[in-house]
Amino acid sequence: MKYKFWGVRGSIPTPGPETVGYGGNTSCGELTLDDGGMIIFDAGSGIRVLGNDLMKRGKKPVEAVILLSHTHWDHIQGFPFFVPAFIPGNKFVICGCEEADVKLDQIIKDQMKSAYFPIELSDMPASIGFKRLYEGKFKISGARVDTLYLNHPGFALGYRVESGSKSVVYISDNEPYPIQESTQPEFEGMTYKGSNNYRVIQFSKGTDLLVHDCQYTPDEYKTKVGWGHSPYDYVAEIAWKAEVKRLAIYHHDPGHDDAFVDGIVEKVKALLKEKGSSVEVFGAREGTELEL
Ligand SMILES: [Zn+2]
Ligand SMILES: [Zn+2]
Repeated sequence: MKYKFWGVRGSIPTPGPETVGYGGNTSCGELTLDDGGMIIFDAGSGIRVLGNDLMKRGKKPVEAVILLSHTHWDHIQGFPFFVPAFIPGNKFVICGCEEADVKLDQIIKDQMKSAYFPIELSDMPASIGFKRLYEGKFKISGARVDTLYLNHPGFALGYRVESGSKSVVYISDNEPYPIQESTQPEFEGMTYKGSNNYRVIQFSKGTDLLVHDCQYTPDEYKTKVGWGHSPYDYVAEIAWKAEVKRLAIYHHDPGHDDAFVDGIVEKVKALLKEKGSSVEVFGAREGTELEL
């Protein structure tokens, strides 16, 4: 499998010289499966750039499953600008959770209502299907997919995709579950104890690549509890306990410039070194492609 980052920013696109290093587009990743199948994680503004690249590649028809972590703006706002959806014969299935009172297809249609956008979803000639997801397991083109509910306002899902002996875990927009007193050995050395944090660890266990929300410093997090994003010390603990091979620091805060993100990456590296962990850490950067 191959993973490519097309959008790595959280919350809102942030173009400009201060963010050009990591990139200003919001969440989007492309996973190429061993049989050539395509999974797209999230449809933030990065999917516009992916779409343009797919047009250049010239493959016809373009087919992909789009796995949405959730439907906040920064994870769907690029879809109206996804050129392959304007080409008849192309086929996309958009999967994700929905709100209690609004269905998934309605959420995607609503962002293209005339108050917000000049054309409607029904004006996109490609075949666009929808599939509501819950926690569970299913298959996409031979790959095994597992989902996990995350700690984020509304509903949000993390994804684990496995093909052969390789795997990737995509956890965008997740914050620590509340710290609890625990004497369980699996939390030894950890600050963020709690059984649901353990579920995140188990979900990520041994993966070749963990892409995880890492929006805040621990100090910033103190004033952002409940916003649904992680401080870097939590992310380091999850990667350490899950014994992942590579960790991508993801969903960079729109207020953090390249130097600040560099600093967060160094802090995570230092925390993992202290723990004697061999996890390879890097800041997710637009255009980076990894062979898993
Ligand atoms: Zn987000
Ligand atoms: Zn969100």
